[in-house]
Amino acid sequence: MKNQHTQNKHKAEAKSVGLTLLGPGRTSRYRTYLFNECEHKGEFSLQLVRRGSVRCGICQKQKLRVEATAAGLTVVGPGKNKDYRTYRFNKCQHELEIHTGSVRKGHFRCKKCFHEKLKSEADAADLALLGPGKTVHYRTYRFNECRHEQEIETAGVRKGVFRCRQCINEKLEAESIAAGLTLISPGKNALYRTYRFNECKHEREFTVDQVRKGEVRCGICQKRKLRVEATAAGLTVVGPGKTRHHRTYLFDECGHEQEVETGQVRAGEVRCGICQEQKLRVEAAAAGLAVVGPGKDARYRTYRFNQCRHKQEIQVGAVRSGHFICNMCEETARDLPSNVYLVKIKTSSFEWLKFGYAGNVDERVKQYGLPADAEVTTVIVRPFDTGREAHEFEKSIHGIYANRGLPPEQMRKFHTITGFEECYPIDLMGKLSEEIKML
Ligand SMILES: [Zn+2]
Ligand SMILES: [Zn+2]
Ligand SMILES: [Zn+2]
Ligand SMILES: [Zn+2]
Ligand SMILES: [Zn+2]
Ligand SMILES: [Zn+2]
Repeated sequence: MKNQHTQNKHKAEAKSVGLTLLGPGRTSRYRTYLFNECEHKGEFSLQLVRRGSVRCGICQKQKLRVEATAAGLTVVGPGKNKDYRTYRFNKCQHELEIHTGSVRKGHFRCKKCFHEKLKSEADAADLALLGPGKTVHYRTYRFNECRHEQEIETAGVRKGVFRCRQCINEKLEAESIAAGLTLISPGKNALYRTYRFNECKHEREFTVDQVRKGEVRCGICQKRKLRVEATAAGLTVVGPGKTRHHRTYLFDECGHEQEVETGQVRAGEVRCGICQEQKLRVEAAAAGLAVVGPGKDARYRTYRFNQCRHKQEIQVGAVRSGHFICNMCEETARDLPSNVYLVKIKTSSFEWLKFGYAGNVDERVKQYGLPADAEVTTVIVRPFDTGREAHEFEKSIHGIYANRGLPPEQMRKFHTITGFEECYPIDLMGKLSEEIKML
């Protein structure tokens, strides 16, 4: 009774999962069943049937065979677990375990063929393929030439876009040593590295190219050096200049700011251009001139004569010493009537003779820049038809008395602008008067 009852229960369990119980199995816990749908037979445990997890192995095998064929494969054996099978690639005949789901979706490739492809690509790139890399996109390679090992992207190897980092680093290190630097870390981008100066220990980023060319200087030390040089020259660095050889300096003495070449500061050859121009203006004014523009070089300026308004380039030194004349006026005066003159000049401390030639003696005397208390007395004035003749005559008399003249440096005390040359002691008055009257 009990047996009959159990038998009926097993039949009902089989029916509910699409099976028909046919008979006994290999042991008391197994039975033989018929799949109602495909009519294939199979042996299953009673427990498996009760759980409902039975599938037709024959149908499944058939399905996997069909899927494999569609994917260019042949099932040749089991896999490491029920989800895997061993397949043979119809094309290359390589055998490989693949997940059955991957075969269904076509998500697989022949690893052996792929490995051979990578190997031949490595070979073409003069590399040896050693093993896997950090991701599926990388492999570990050895450079045939330098024997260094490195992980490289397989795509990089294919395109030939790779270099031996160790060799590069060795080269960079050698270059930095040659430049007096120590390579300490990477830089802000691939072009830069951070270096330490062996001498001063300061750190700075340079491009590898700068290091290779030896174009490296410590900015901190350079700044310090410029500051020291500036101080020694009476200057203070206050800003950059128009080139890397220039800086803007403050002149400690006058407070003017100006761009100067650092080399000039180093050599101590700096003067305040603003003050210098001011000085030139003062000197020009004292000489009856006005600075109106630059000259052909640093030693010249263009001046305007206050009296005749003519403009002319004159050496600043000549303006300072009074050794200049207005060329235009001079040119005109040569062909106009002129005079040779001798005047006596007397101040509270000194008395002397001034000898010369001029179209207008009174105007000429005004240009001497004499002290306010100077008394001027005409000793003799001899007229000539032209300035040229007057000048010739004047020169011939100077020739005779050249070594008796008063020293010009001394006469500048009185002749503050012009005429300090060709001054004579008062005791030559008689002789000079005679000479002028004679000829
Ligand atoms: Zn079946
Ligand atoms: Zn293959
Ligand atoms: Zn290398
Ligand atoms: Zn330094
Ligand atoms: Zn100044
Ligand atoms: Zn003139």
